[in-house]
Amino acid sequence: MIMAEKKKGWKDLPIGGAITEAGNSKKYNTGDWRVQRPLFDAEKCSQCMLCVIFCPDASIDLEEGKVVGMNLEHCKGCGICAAECPKDAIEMKNEGELKAKERQKSKAKGKARVG
Ligand code: SF4
Ligand code: SF4
Repeated sequence: MIMAEKKKGWKDLPIGGAITEAGNSKKYNTGDWRVQRPLFDAEKCSQCMLCVIFCPDASIDLEEGKVVGMNLEHCKGCGICAAECPKDAIEMKNEGELKAKERQKSKAKGKARVG
């Protein structure tokens, strides 16, 4: 008779999400599991800063006091910035589809370099 493999209990799992020092949340790239990606349109942006205030992850990138885009290493793709933007300057797009397009582009670039 074949015995089913014994599943691990919670005590056997490696420790995750441990806060080992103050301010270590920067080391968690929560953008890894995003399913929607905010796309920023600088042309439409009025620099009202509402997205900066509402983003729960402090993922709006600023340069010299101006919004220039989103930090995709930490953005979770919640879409709050897009919902709050009064100028429709942020559009949420499917992360998987964008990544597939990016992979295709980099493959094509690689082929062009080899050929
Ligand atoms: S999608 Fe959410 S986490 Fe990402 S920048 Fe917008 S408000 Fe912040
Ligand atoms: S909420 Fe919209 S218009 Fe306001 S700063 Fe952010 S992107 Fe620009």
